[in-house]
Amino acid sequence: MDELDTPVLDDHMHLDPLVGRGVEAAETFADHGGTHLLVVNKPSWHLLEDLPDGPEDFRRVFDLTVDVVADASDVLPGRAWPVLGVHPALVSQLVEADHDPESARELMQTGLDVAAEYVADGPALALKSGRPHYAVDDDVWAASNAVMKHGFGLAAETGVAIQLHTEGGEDFTDVAEWAEDRGLPAERVVKHFSGGRLQGPTKSVISNKDDLEVAVEADEPFMMETDFIDDPDRPGAVLGPKTVPRRVRWLREEGHDDAVRQAHVETPASVYGIDTEATLQ
Ligand SMILES: [Zn+2]
Repeated sequence: MDELDTPVLDDHMHLDPLVGRGVEAAETFADHGGTHLLVVNKPSWHLLEDLPDGPEDFRRVFDLTVDVVADASDVLPGRAWPVLGVHPALVSQLVEADHDPESARELMQTGLDVAAEYVADGPALALKSGRPHYAVDDDVWAASNAVMKHGFGLAAETGVAIQLHTEGGEDFTDVAEWAEDRGLPAERVVKHFSGGRLQGPTKSVISNKDDLEVAVEADEPFMMETDFIDDPDRPGAVLGPKTVPRRVRWLREEGHDDAVRQAHVETPASVYGIDTEATLQ
């Protein structure tokens, strides 16, 4: 359909191969000018019948994502990459079940260890971690920060970036310092669902016009995302797969070609080491 003659990357979306649109959502993205996708595994509770119990359960979640990403790559003019990790809200589910915060921390760190195997030897591009976006008890908060720091260590060891799901806000310099302390450059920490302004990590801006205008004005590295959740029970709960290509078209109409290049070529190259131009057919 609409050629944009530029890479168009959605930095954070989900494809649910079990109950969602799956590859068909990637086709819709491509039909509107999208070229590259970073597909984050859905939280384990959407894909497993029970809470995860050990490494094999996380493998099942990751394998489902890796498979749908391979199929998505086939329908894109560029390609898709998996981003794998453990959703920070899992801690609350574990604590509500039979775990104390300490054993919840251990299990979530096990999940990240498994994800790190997929980035070190295999198909995944980056890790995903974070901490709850809602208020939790102090010991759950401490466990969550420990999990996230473990993720920073793994990302540093394997030489990859890590996406974070966190509370809202604009100053995450302390979190970026925790990453730097473990040998991970702050630039390689990507705060998913960011607004247009952020200190510390790299921002992956939710593609509302207002937020994008602020990001363009800030004139710093950034990427664009929808956080499309591919959940048939929550249609319209988030931005759809057409949104990033549409916003790219709008940014160009507004004369922001440099920002488009920043978000879809330069920042992805420096953060993830991907070449969205060379991988475009
Ligand atoms: Zn998400």
